[in-house]
Amino acid sequence: MMRLPKFEYRVPRSMAEAVEIIAGVGPEGQFVAGGTDLYPNMKRRQQTPKTVISVMRLPELNQITGDGKSGVRIGASVTLTDICEHPLINRDYQFVAAAARTISTPILRNMGTIGGNLLLDTRCNYYNQNYEWRKGINFCLKKDGDVCWVAPGSAKCWAVQSSDLVPVMVAIGAKLRFASSLGERVVEAAGLYNDDGIDYLRKQPDELLVDIQLPALNGWRASYQKLRRRGAFDFPVLGVAAWLNVSEDGTVNDAKLVLGGVAPAPVEVKEAQAVLIGQPLDEERMRAAAEACYVKARPLDNTDFVMNWRKQMARPLGLKVLEELSRG
Ligand SMILES: Cc1cc2nc3c(=O)[nH]c(=O)nc-3n(C[C@H](O)[C@H](O)[C@H](O)COP(=O)(O)OP(=O)(O)OC[C@H]3O[C@@H](n4cnc5c(N)ncnc54)[C@H](O)[C@@H]3O)c2cc1C
Ligand code: SF4
Repeated sequence: MMRLPKFEYRVPRSMAEAVEIIAGVGPEGQFVAGGTDLYPNMKRRQQTPKTVISVMRLPELNQITGDGKSGVRIGASVTLTDICEHPLINRDYQFVAAAARTISTPILRNMGTIGGNLLLDTRCNYYNQNYEWRKGINFCLKKDGDVCWVAPGSAKCWAVQSSDLVPVMVAIGAKLRFASSLGERVVEAAGLYNDDGIDYLRKQPDELLVDIQLPALNGWRASYQKLRRRGAFDFPVLGVAAWLNVSEDGTVNDAKLVLGGVAPAPVEVKEAQAVLIGQPLDEERMRAAAEACYVKARPLDNTDFVMNWRKQMARPLGLKVLEELSRG
């Protein structure tokens, strides 16, 4: 049985207290929300904070406010179950609830939060193993070793961005608010992710994710499709999110297509957008955009399923999200 290492557990009751604690303990500290990613990583000795600071009792992080007309703010500690069941999210941002419903299992969604999901560690078959397994291969670049077993000549880690909500938030242009002892900043979701499996977030370790701001809908619609082995639960090994603005006569005014699960960061498919914008959302354009998703997907062999098949599946999944959106 894998056991957690010893650590100090702190439960601040305000944002000010939370950022003060992490500023005091420095790099030895780490925030935890539901713990469904952090605790398994600690058991496998991949992340080793000496002080773990819970963000679950911070009132600002537990609210959902606004609506589809003005935009919505979702606190980082709102659980995935609450997102799946929230009447406002289901009415105005049904695609967010639908994507959240595909994440892990009902029990894990009761604990797991939107904030933890957006800050999820990258994944790889050579990394998501227990300590003894990793020791058996002399570890790897991402943790404790000096070789990447996926691309041995590479100086870079190719562990995969594996969150279902990340491609959705990047596609819709969500904004994320962070707080630290130095103040607050708001970043576009697209600017948060780094194409490096080790240094995967453009965020300081002491920055607390406060909330996620979903844009006003104003005629935009979105959809997400995910490839995984088991329908009941499994991480995405390919995800396709699309965000389209279509005029009443069926012309695409604007579009954003984003792939998840194929690289250390989400991948925007600008070529698909170029095919769609200013054109009718017809079969020919949708197939051309799906083809662009296929071309842009360049997964490596470090998750479930053969990489060539994952790449090929970008075509039907790309088509499926667009067909869904074409039906309104
Ligand atoms: C069996 C299993 C299946 C899973 N399947 C899926 C899946 O299909 N799709 C998917 O997307 N995920 C999946 N997950 C991963 C995980 O359950 C979810 O992503 C969940 O939303 C993570 O949220 P959490 O609150 O538990 O994160 P935590 O484990 O608490 O935290 C994750 C990371 O975020 C940081 N963090 C959390 N909150 C904050 C904050 N407010 N400010 C700063 N840093 C913060 C933590 O320090 C940590 O680095 C699965 C996990 C398991 C164990
Ligand atoms: S991609 Fe390479 S360095 Fe990164 S986790 Fe996998 S084996 Fe390790």
